Amino acid sequence: MMANFPKSIRIGSIDYDIESKEGVSSSDAMLGFISYGGAHIHVDSSLPRSKANVVLAHELAHGILHEAGYDDHTEEQANRIGKVLAMILRDNDFGFMRDGDLIEVNVEERSEI
Ligand SMILES: [Zn+2]
Repeated sequence: MMANFPKSIRIGSIDYDIESKEGVSSSDAMLGFISYGGAHIHVDSSLPRSKANVVLAHELAHGILHEAGYDDHTEEQANRIGKVLAMILRDNDFGFMRDGDLIEVNVEERSEI
């Protein structure tokens, strides 16, 4: 089943057009890509929905890292963040985040191990 993506997704202040089309690349390893300058994300439309969602989350991870100023991030970083992001987006409803403005804070947290 083809994924039912929105027309665009905003990352930071940039609206990325989301396009699902066949044959993103001649390489089987490349199932999607993001163009920062062109502000678009392509995901191979031949993928089953569950895999297309993971590919989209991977491209969003690239966009997040880019927006955060990590222009030299690695593919592995995008892979790891993308996998977690896909689960977060699947498992939660973020409608509550729309209720207020976002203010800049420096968050220092201790993580429990
Ligand atoms: Zn990638």
